[in-house]
Amino acid sequence: MLKLKSLCVSYGAVEALTNVSVHVSEGEFVSLIGSNGAGKTTLLNSVMGIIPAKQGEAVFMGESIAAMKVHQAAAKGIALVPEGRRVFANMTVLENILMGGFSKSSRENSEKIEEIYSMFPVLKERKNQQAGMLSGGEQQMLAIGRALMCRPKLLLMDEPSMGLAPLVIKDVYEKLAALSKTGLTILLVEQNAAMALKYADRGYVLENGRIVLQGSAKELLGDNEVKRAYLGKE
Ligand code: ATP
Repeated sequence: MLKLKSLCVSYGAVEALTNVSVHVSEGEFVSLIGSNGAGKTTLLNSVMGIIPAKQGEAVFMGESIAAMKVHQAAAKGIALVPEGRRVFANMTVLENILMGGFSKSSRENSEKIEEIYSMFPVLKERKNQQAGMLSGGEQQMLAIGRALMCRPKLLLMDEPSMGLAPLVIKDVYEKLAALSKTGLTILLVEQNAAMALKYADRGYVLENGRIVLQGSAKELLGDNEVKRAYLGKE
């Protein structure tokens, strides 16, 4: 579904991604782990058309997306849940959800909202509250719900565990696993390697803008270097 080949992305003279090749098949849940500044956000932003690639190929469902702008990538079926969630704090939960469905008819939106409410009951309970009043975990659910409104084929998740307590992180990942079971394709980037790999099918390790390891999530969880550098185990 998504194929990145030898992707290079720079900020001026700083090369943030060097020859990154990543693929995600339809229905897969793929996690890319890496520490601070490894280039994870840059990778997702590049797929979404926020940052153009300097070199390399990016193909989504058989079509090059390398030169696409964000609205074109969204129209093709790619949605991004950004780092830090970025909900509209002064708008209600329902208004936030509706922001994700601006391009659809109101009937389509109503149906989708019901689906989102059944997956995230807390959003229904709080639909008239200001989003800024929600807990971090609830805001993460809201950001996911908002992204689902445009019926994405590929969901890009940037650091969903950021700033959340362990039990809440587990809740968020269980929702992502449930979404994955419905057939949604997920590419997730995380510093929290243990959770990202626990729930994924496959994974990549990004260091200083380069892919240094890849394999099934199980293989990576058992890899000595991953254990030492990312899981805090000897
Ligand atoms: P974090 O987990 O801290 O968000 P990350 O893995 O997502 O890290 P990126 O944010 O993609 O990493 O950053 C990759 C590299 O690019 C870093 O060296 C960073 O300093 C640099 N970088 C990121 N954004 C910019 C920018 N707008 N201008 C210049 N350099 C940038």
